[in-house]
Amino acid sequence: MQYRAEQIRKSGKTIAFVPTMGYLHRGHLSLMVHGHNLADHLVASIFVNPTQFGPNEDLSRYPRDLIRDTALAEEAGVDILFTPGEKDLYPAGFETYVSQTALPEHLCGLSRPGHFRGVTTIVAKLFNIVKPHFAIFGEKDFQQLAVIRKMVKDLNFDVEIIGAATIREPDGLAMSSRNAFLSETHRKSALVLYRCLADAKQMAAAGEKDPQKIIKTCEAAINAEADTVIDYIAICHPDTLADVAAVDQPVVMALAVKVGSTRLIDNLMLFPPGSETL
Ligand code: AMP
Repeated sequence: MQYRAEQIRKSGKTIAFVPTMGYLHRGHLSLMVHGHNLADHLVASIFVNPTQFGPNEDLSRYPRDLIRDTALAEEAGVDILFTPGEKDLYPAGFETYVSQTALPEHLCGLSRPGHFRGVTTIVAKLFNIVKPHFAIFGEKDFQQLAVIRKMVKDLNFDVEIIGAATIREPDGLAMSSRNAFLSETHRKSALVLYRCLADAKQMAAAGEKDPQKIIKTCEAAINAEADTVIDYIAICHPDTLADVAAVDQPVVMALAVKVGSTRLIDNLMLFPPGSETL
């Protein structure tokens, strides 16, 4: 992969890159279409990265279907599908990690210690292997996008990071490979995530400035659904991810909820009246 990337660069062509953990859905495919339109060559990777999973998380049961993914990636315009094995990226004796201090101290970083260290490490490695000019990440994983942008800035990676809008099912559920785990009942419960984000957006647009009031409303809606356990609901600054004291600027509302045994995340920007849409 590194050799081919260098050949492409030497020929004066550009590379767009979409890293994924596979079990592709329309969210991933929208990133790929974006990348295809952006550069001469589109590289996508499929690698279920063990270092970003905690000991009690779903690494071993993470859904996989490489044959289906290969066909979908090809349809979306992927020129090179990079599917390294675990031993290729983490051979025996691997001991160098990339970690960040401030951004992982919020949101998912609190309930998933070590997760973002795994993410920054694998993305740094993949950038060195794929040598992309552009890399596209989904806003669905809002904190991940912020962490990657910061890593690229701090470590002077020569790559432009592009954020792409969250793709949803017609009923609002954000697409995720983990949706495959949801039973029919749990899928119904899961709709509350987007429903309460959309309600929060309306509350902010109608002039509600108190984040706690918005969060309480959302909490009640989630707790009213079967088999839901809230991990966090936060209203924070889109760059620092620190909680805001008032919704008096565009802010991001982010939440993580366990529905049955499946942990789902989602987020939405909230705009107070009169603020510019981003
Ligand atoms: P994953 O395979 O879940 O690690 O995701 C790979 C990339 O796809 C990440 O940049 C995600 O943010 C992005 N992604 C996942 N779900 C969605 C979605 N529903 N809409 C847009 N991008 C997504």
